[in-house]
Amino acid sequence: MLLEISTTHQPATDLGFLMHKHPDRFQSFKLSHGKAHLFYPEATIHKTTICLLLDINPIELVRGKKRTAGKHFSLAHYVNDRPYVASSFMSVAIAKTLATAMNGTCQQRPELANTPIPLQVRISVVSAPAGGERLIRELFEPLGYKLQLQRHLLDTQFEEWGASQYFTMELNHQLTIRELLSHLYVLLPVLDNDKHYYISQTEIDKLLAKGEGWLADHPQKEQITRRYLGRFNALSRLALQRLLSVAQAETVDTKPFETASSKKVTLHEKRLELVKEKILATGAKKILDLGCGEGKLIKKLLPHRHITQITGVDVSYSELTKAKARLRMDRMNSQEAARISLFQSALTYRDKRFDGYDAAVLVEVIEHLDEDRLQSLERSIFECAIPKTVIVTTPNKEYNILFEKMEKDQMRHDDHRFEWTRKEFETWGQKVANRNQYHVTFLPIGEEEDQVGAPSQMAIFTYET
Ligand code: SAH
Repeated sequence: MLLEISTTHQPATDLGFLMHKHPDRFQSFKLSHGKAHLFYPEATIHKTTICLLLDINPIELVRGKKRTAGKHFSLAHYVNDRPYVASSFMSVAIAKTLATAMNGTCQQRPELANTPIPLQVRISVVSAPAGGERLIRELFEPLGYKLQLQRHLLDTQFEEWGASQYFTMELNHQLTIRELLSHLYVLLPVLDNDKHYYISQTEIDKLLAKGEGWLADHPQKEQITRRYLGRFNALSRLALQRLLSVAQAETVDTKPFETASSKKVTLHEKRLELVKEKILATGAKKILDLGCGEGKLIKKLLPHRHITQITGVDVSYSELTKAKARLRMDRMNSQEAARISLFQSALTYRDKRFDGYDAAVLVEVIEHLDEDRLQSLERSIFECAIPKTVIVTTPNKEYNILFEKMEKDQMRHDDHRFEWTRKEFETWGQKVANRNQYHVTFLPIGEEEDQVGAPSQMAIFTYET
C-alpha cells in the first residue's frame, strides 16, 4: 500500500521541513509485521511529493495470529488483502515514521506548521466497506476534502467479473500537515474496519487525541468511533460519551436511502403509525420500545392516556440523549415523567428490567445485530421477558432494487449487518414463534409492488397461553 502526499505550496521543498524528513534520503523503518519506506519521488520548488510505502509480510501476519487461529490451516490466513489495503497498518506506520509532523511540531518552519497549505493525497488502495463509495465520501467530505475515487476491476483480464471493492483515492484540501495526518490516522482504519491489534481502553485516548478539533463535530462521529474501535460496543459507548461531552448530539438519519426523497420520508412515518395502530389494538398498557433510538415511537404513544408505562431501551447513549430531548422530559410534570423511562442496555443480554410488559416492539432494530447474535436476542425477549405481544419490523431486501441511489448488494444503512427477503423474515419469525409458544402473523409496510413486495415488513407475535 502506498500513501503519497504532495504540495504545490511555494517553495514546495518546505514539505521536507514539515515532515521532518530530508528529501534526498530514502529511509526504512521496521514495523511489527513488515517495513515502512519513506522517500521523495519528486522535490522541486514547484511541487514536492513524499511517499510512504508499506511492505507488509503476510507470513509475519499469520505468525502473529497463531494463538487465536487454532490448529486448522486456513488459506485465508495467507491469501487475503491485508498486505495491500490501507488500514490500521497505515495508521501505525504514519504514527511511527511521521510522529513529529503529526504533532504539528516544526523547528525550522514553526509558523508554516500552523498554516493551511494546498495538499494532495493519493492512496492505493482503500477497501470500501458495506456503505461503498458513499461511506468514503461521508467520512472525508464533511472535513472539506475534494475527493476522487477510482474503482478497480476485480481482474483486468476478465472485465466481465465486474468491479472489486478496492479504490484508489485522491484527496485535495488546504490544511495543515497535522490536520491531514490525524484525519488519515483515524479514518483509514475506519474505512477498513479490520484492526490488526488488540483494542484496549488506550485506543479511546488515541482516538480522542487524534480526533481533537474535528471529530466531535463530524456528522459521522458515531460511525467513525464504532468502526475505529472495531465494534467493541462498550468502548464505543464510552468514547461517544466523552465526545458528546464536547459536542451537541446531532440527528442522524435512521435510513439514508429511504429518506432520500420526500416520498420516502413518509416510509418511516408509515411504519411507526402502523406499529402504533397495532399496539393500540392489543390494548397494551405497559410498552417496551427496544432499540428506541431517538424516541419517535414513544412520542407517538404518549398522548394515549390508557398507556401507563412506556420504556425506551437503547444500547447507544447518544440516541437516548436525543430521545430525552425529543420528548422534552426536562419540561414534563412529575406525573407525566413517571410514565416514561429510558435506559441503556443491550438486547442480546438477559435484563430483568425487560420483564412485566404487555407489549415489546423492535422497530428496525434486528438488522443492526450480527445474525449470529439473533438467538441471544430471542432468548432475552421471547424466552425470558415474555411480553404478551412482540412487534418486529425490518426492511424487505427484495424492494432495494427500487431505490435508485443504492448500489447492488448495498444495504439501506451502513450499520445494517443483514437485510432479509420476505421469505427469510418469515422463516426466522416462524421458528422463533414455534420455539417459544408464540403465534405469529406477517404484514407488509408501505405500498406493495409487483414481484418485490412492500419496502418494509412486520411480524406480530402473540404469546399463546
Ligand atoms: N426504533 C427506532 C430506531 C431504529 S435504529 C426507530 O424506529 O426510529 C436502530 C436502533 O437500535 C439504534 O438506535 C441502535 O442504537 C439500537 N441498537 C442496535 N443494536 C442494539 C443492541 N444490541 N441493543 C440495544 N439497542 C441496539
